[in-house]
Amino acid sequence: MKSPAAIAILLLVLVNSVSGLPNFLPKNISSSPWAPFQNLTGCHMGDHVPGLVDLKRYLKRFGYMNFPDTATNSTNANVTDEFDDSLEWAIKTYQKNFNLNPTGSLDLSTVNQIVRPRCGVADIINGSTSMNSSGAAHANDRRLYSFFPGSPSWPSNKRQLTYAISPTARISADDATLRSIFARAFERWANVTQMTFVEAAEYSAADIKIGFYSGDHGDGEAFDGVLGTLAHAFSPTNGRFHLDAAENWAVDGSLPSVGEIDLESVAVHEIGHLLGLGHSSVEEAIMFPTITSGTRRVELAADDVAGVQLLYGANPTYNASSSSSNSAQEEERGGATSGGGRVVTLGLFSGAVSAIVSLLIL
Ligand SMILES: [Zn+2]
Ligand SMILES: [Zn+2]
Repeated sequence: MKSPAAIAILLLVLVNSVSGLPNFLPKNISSSPWAPFQNLTGCHMGDHVPGLVDLKRYLKRFGYMNFPDTATNSTNANVTDEFDDSLEWAIKTYQKNFNLNPTGSLDLSTVNQIVRPRCGVADIINGSTSMNSSGAAHANDRRLYSFFPGSPSWPSNKRQLTYAISPTARISADDATLRSIFARAFERWANVTQMTFVEAAEYSAADIKIGFYSGDHGDGEAFDGVLGTLAHAFSPTNGRFHLDAAENWAVDGSLPSVGEIDLESVAVHEIGHLLGLGHSSVEEAIMFPTITSGTRRVELAADDVAGVQLLYGANPTYNASSSSSNSAQEEERGGATSGGGRVVTLGLFSGAVSAIVSLLIL
């Protein structure tokens, strides 16, 4: 017979483990625009649950579904709370890209991944995918990097890019701090390729234009406040690099607190897009689409290095065997922790964010 105390403890453990609250989201942070998706945990084919239509729009945004979504299309089956075939297919594809069990239903691990803060660039762009979709089978070959459709890159006669931070689209961090963060982030990519980066004297003349924006800022990809999407960048040779001004950006290079997002980590990721890399399914890669709040991940992984060197060649001074980028990536974590994200790449449908990339391809 178990004692009443033992039963009480058992019940506590059970309640804790099924509460559905991702452990990267402290209980005082309910401001993620995707937090309501936690209410969909357990949903599966055939269900009709309020909020599924919002999940469909999320999946569309990141390239997993493709449907017209206007007021005049209210009869479209996709724009309803029905858990139908196309939603099940989209979830399975998402699960494969993020190395999750492809159940096609909204199990807890899938929902926990969906609500994690992430890059605004779609995983699947214009119906072409290069992200992993077979999970562990690819885990060892370390070549899951991807490019944007058409593999755009900076021209071969341009091996030095200039960058500048917008003089007006800023956050409160001081100028010297911001400049050193972005300089370090660019240096990570310069260390492994023949591409170099220098700060432009004039913002208007820079190849890469960095700015912090709130909400709708004119490129069709509105930011969504705290958490949710964190940043997005355009493929070569557009050069636009936008960050969500509403985030609690950690800028001092130490481990961020839970609820904070490490600016340098996100900068290194977005520069990968600016150079032509899409998302990777390698969880340790910089180009993995999600980052956990309260963590810092700034070292290029072997997958990132292999991808970018294919576009720009290797830095002659780069020695893979002695570089930390050739070793397993360590993700530092602060405060509450959770499993890392998974990766995805370019696939089948044109998500809203893909419009950013499409501009460059046209
Ligand atoms: Zn990204
Ligand atoms: Zn933007």
